[in-house]
Amino acid sequence: MSSSSAAVAEAVACCRLEKQQRRRLAAFDFDHTIVAQNTDTVVRDLLPPEVVSSRALNELVENDCWTEYMSEVFRLLHEQQVTEARIRDTIRVIPEVPGFVRLIKHLHKKLNFDMIIISDSNSVFIDEWVKAHNLADCFVAIFTNPAEFDSNGQLQVRPHHQQSECKLSASNLCKGRVLEHFVIEQDLRRSIRYDHVFYVGDGNNDICPVLRQRACDFACARQGFAMEKHLIRNRNKLKLRAHLLVWKSGFDLMEQMLALPQMQVSQVDLETAEGQAEMARRASAVAGPTKPTN
Ligand SMILES: [Mg+2]
Ligand SMILES: [Zn+2]
Repeated sequence: MSSSSAAVAEAVACCRLEKQQRRRLAAFDFDHTIVAQNTDTVVRDLLPPEVVSSRALNELVENDCWTEYMSEVFRLLHEQQVTEARIRDTIRVIPEVPGFVRLIKHLHKKLNFDMIIISDSNSVFIDEWVKAHNLADCFVAIFTNPAEFDSNGQLQVRPHHQQSECKLSASNLCKGRVLEHFVIEQDLRRSIRYDHVFYVGDGNNDICPVLRQRACDFACARQGFAMEKHLIRNRNKLKLRAHLLVWKSGFDLMEQMLALPQMQVSQVDLETAEGQAEMARRASAVAGPTKPTN
């Protein structure tokens, strides 16, 4: 049996064993969505300013290849004896976009969301930050450019994939393709179907995934950033099917999500223990503290 037909057989076997589950998915960008800065530029700025502004380095950006540019940045950081520990320390202290740590924990613990990150940063930076903020258990998967420190202590990063079909996305990462593949895999391998998919982002590379969303999904764009501006400016031309939610912070996004009719406890939720607990919690919150009996 070939490996692909073995994979299909395995997926079919899984489907027979597991009852289909209906859940919700939240997919997040990382830089300027979960964290308040760009992880790559924060680390790049550990280099002396004259190196950052050097012509040799900037030619790589003009060539439009960000992963190659960052590879050169990591080589220079190693040359300048910037250690792995210093890079990791720098990443850990990047502030969150206000309210995002709370939002992610709430969606995970209280609302039973599946969550993923799709980011053009790299696995070392994202893992470091996510672990430092106790969020590692919240994510089902993190899709980004794979990276590791080699035996010399130099950070090596590789493209997530190579693609040329999607013109909206960079050659190393089409977030729309990643999101679609994830949703299909969850259905085939785990019998999980998503009633609603929330995609949360800020940048131009977050346009591709939201244009592939369904009418029951939500495109959540950060207010005042490129994604929101692009979606609003080209509203008619782009034919966005998903509902557009414009957010200012994690607190604001959580409020908007909790107010959605789609987020109220449904029949599906009632079949689960979490759903029943949630209903009981809401009922007691509405009733207020019970009056002591005399
Ligand atoms: Mg971003
Ligand atoms: Zn794309």
